[in-house]
Amino acid sequence: MEMKIVCLGTSSSIPTAKKNHSGFLIKTEKEQILVDCGEGIQRQFRKAEENPAKTTKILITHWHEDHTLGLAGLLKTMGVDSYAKTLHIYGPKATREKIHLFEQIYSRYKIQMEIHEVHSGTIYEDKQIKIETLPMNHGIITQAYSVTIKEQRRIDKAKLKKLKIPNSPLIGELQRGKDIKFNNKTIKAKDITYIQPGKKLTIILDTASNINTIELAKNSNLLICESTYSAEEQEQATEYKHLTTTEAATIAKKAKVTNLALVHISQKHHHRLPQLLKEAKKVFAKTTIPEDLDILTI
Ligand SMILES: [Zn+2]
Ligand SMILES: [Zn+2]
Repeated sequence: MEMKIVCLGTSSSIPTAKKNHSGFLIKTEKEQILVDCGEGIQRQFRKAEENPAKTTKILITHWHEDHTLGLAGLLKTMGVDSYAKTLHIYGPKATREKIHLFEQIYSRYKIQMEIHEVHSGTIYEDKQIKIETLPMNHGIITQAYSVTIKEQRRIDKAKLKKLKIPNSPLIGELQRGKDIKFNNKTIKAKDITYIQPGKKLTIILDTASNINTIELAKNSNLLICESTYSAEEQEQATEYKHLTTTEAATIAKKAKVTNLALVHISQKHHHRLPQLLKEAKKVFAKTTIPEDLDILTI
C-alpha cells in the first residue's frame, strides 16, 4: 500500500505567485488527511484535481495565520458539498475554541465534526494506519505529526492460484497469519504470504530545533520539514523559532529518515532555491525542495 502526499502549499508566511500558504494532503487507501489549511488551499485542491469532500481528517500544527486562514472556508465548502461522514479535526489545545469562533463569526457548519485537542503520543490507530504527534517549540503551542501505514501481511496471489484455493473465509485466515486446512492438506500462512513493510511520513512545520523532531521523525521514509531560513541565518532562525536548511537536514540525518523534503522556505529565498538545496545536501544528500502541486510518493 502506498502513501501519496500532494503538496498543496509550500510557502512560508507570505504566499507568492508560485507558492501557496501551507497545506499537505496525505492519501492512503482509506484516508485523505489534510495537514494545515492556509489561505487559498481550497483553490489548490481544485488545481490538484482533488476533492475536499473526501477528506477524512484534518491535522492542525498550530494556529498561525499561514497554516489556518483557509480552514473557515474549507469547512463551509465541505458542508455545501453535503459531507456525509464525521470529520475528525486534530490540533493543539484551544483548537475547539478557535473553530467555534469561526461559527460565531460566520454560521454553523453543516457537517459533523469531532475535534481532538492533542499533545503527545498516538492520537489515532486502526488496523492500517497510526497517527502520532509531539509538541514542538515555536512561540505558540505547536504540534508535528507522523502518519504510518502499518506493516501488512499480503497473500502471494500466484501461489494462491497454483494451490487453487477459492475465494472463501480461508483467505481471511491466511491474511491473519493462520495456517489453514485445504483438500486435507495443511497450508502454512508463512509459505503463501509475505510481510509488506510499513511506511512512515513525518511532517514538521514551524519549530525551532528541539529533541522531539528527531524522536517523531525516527526512521521515516519521508520527512517533510520546514526550512524557513538559510544556513547563514541561524540567529534569526533561533530568534523567530524556525529552522535553517542545515538544521532541517541535521534532523533528517539524526532521525535516519530515507528522504527529506524542505518546505516553508521564506519568500526572500525563492529566487535562490538551488543554493538552499545545496546547503541541506551537504548534511543530508537525499533532500529535495518540492513545488506546489508536486506529488510525493512513499
Ligand atoms: Zn508558518
Ligand atoms: Zn508559525
